[in-house]
Amino acid sequence: MPPALSRHDPGRHDPGRHAPTRPAPGDGAPVIVWFRRDLRLADNPALAAAAGRPVLPLFVLDEEAPGRWRPGGASRWWLHHSLAALAASLARLGLPLLLRRGPAARVVPALAAETGAAAVHWNRRYEPWAVARDAALKAELAASGVGARSFNGSLLAEPWQLSTGAGRPYRVFTPFWRALLAAPPPAPPLPVPAGLTAPAQVPRGDRLEDWGLLPSGPDWAGGLRDTWTPGEAGAAGRLARFLEGPAAAYGAARDLPGTEGTSRLSPHLHFGEISPRQVWAQAQAAMGCHDREGMVAGIESFLREIGWREFCYNLLYHFPTLPEVPLNPEFEAFPWSDDRTALSAWTRGRTGYPIVDAGMRQLWATGWMHNRVRMIAASFLVKHLLLPWREGAAWFWDTLVDADLANNSAGWQWVAGCGADAAPYFRVFNPVLQGRKFDPAGAYVRRWVPELARLPDAWVHEPWRAPADVLARAGVRPGRDYPEPVVALEAGRERALAAYATLGQAS
Ligand code: FAD
Repeated sequence: MPPALSRHDPGRHDPGRHAPTRPAPGDGAPVIVWFRRDLRLADNPALAAAAGRPVLPLFVLDEEAPGRWRPGGASRWWLHHSLAALAASLARLGLPLLLRRGPAARVVPALAAETGAAAVHWNRRYEPWAVARDAALKAELAASGVGARSFNGSLLAEPWQLSTGAGRPYRVFTPFWRALLAAPPPAPPLPVPAGLTAPAQVPRGDRLEDWGLLPSGPDWAGGLRDTWTPGEAGAAGRLARFLEGPAAAYGAARDLPGTEGTSRLSPHLHFGEISPRQVWAQAQAAMGCHDREGMVAGIESFLREIGWREFCYNLLYHFPTLPEVPLNPEFEAFPWSDDRTALSAWTRGRTGYPIVDAGMRQLWATGWMHNRVRMIAASFLVKHLLLPWREGAAWFWDTLVDADLANNSAGWQWVAGCGADAAPYFRVFNPVLQGRKFDPAGAYVRRWVPELARLPDAWVHEPWRAPADVLARAGVRPGRDYPEPVVALEAGRERALAAYATLGQAS
């Protein structure tokens, strides 16, 4: 029987403790490199460690996540293209990418037996079901004499490497970030391994086209195709363009949704087409060789956001119920509304609040939403509409190309005020003031809510208050061309605060 494994040691189980139950594999026995959220060749520790033996790259269509957290439509679109790109890169090295479908807990050991594999390598994942599955799998493989090795390919520091002075996981970002900065710097990224060889025999696998990851009837992915280039080369291009251009102004521009002020690396990082170590190393190099004004400050500010990603993974690992349960248990009793009409107005970008609607439409069209607008739109859902944060997280999960269990869950809990390091609940974003501050000329709203494009700046964030002649000149008929507000601003805010006040009474 495999030994009990600690959750806090998911990938570091020592396979040497198990006596092999089959003869030692010969030199021709392949190493299966199981690609997961590391769809790249460079800085891929699992792949690099396989060099010297025949390598069998494998991807298993992940069907083990609990139903609610199976990849959404936008993620599946991305996955299809990212796998196609990975297969093409591997083919250039003479390696096939084997595709198999089914529970990895069954598929991986079966393939190891079928191929007589010497070992299986993978880079770690941190979703609770993946942690549990991988720990069990590692024990099972080791018990049957297959070396199972896992690596850190997705984070600057493993979640168990940083803890508070009291030995507990961090729940507040700033001390976490300080501890990360004080830790030894990340190791330099690994190059694409040289001299990889394929096994003499490659088993049959699935065809990517047969997995049905792309939408059909209707094909809603046109905006995604126009916006993104999934794959390792697309990721490298994004980072290079960002460091050449917007990085120097990132500190101020990162909050302006009407500009291309951020890196848009999030889906590439989520799928592991680029590693945080590569981002870190290239950002450090850019700080050293560009003396443009603001470069150092801009890049430091950008790396802090990479630090937020690390923090979210740290939270998910140590608090595995993060996607479902408020970290602040008081919020379990929150009197959420069940207004399906309001939810539908929000998802369709028809709340009557231009900055919220612009964000929701950008999300639908491109699979991505600017961070500032994610905060505004999420706050509007949980506060002005009083709808549960889990509903918002589920919609984002289906529609974001960067849908990420750690970042999405932590982001929603933060906005809802129930998370670690949360914004206080009573901080209710005012979508009009936020719009005026961060989209002062209305460029973002005009881009995504074209029916308001001809309104003067003064009214573009609150069209319901515009004088009739202004509306007429701009061609806007309230309630017909653009919806009236789904809830009045002040009434929504009061209702949210009253709901929050009931928590204190309940305890
Ligand atoms: P940049 O500003 O260029 O930042 C660089 C990288 O840092 C990002 O690619 C991302 O990996 C990381 N990062 C930046 N901000 C955050 C943050 N607040 N939290 C964690 N990591 C961050 N991000 C996701 O990747 N997936 C999600 O599913 C997701 N859901 C979110 C839901 C809500 C309600 C909120 C408020 C935020 C969410 N975020 C999520 C975080 C953030 O909005 C995105 O990472 C960011 O907008 C991506 O754009 P970018 O790559 O241009 O970011």
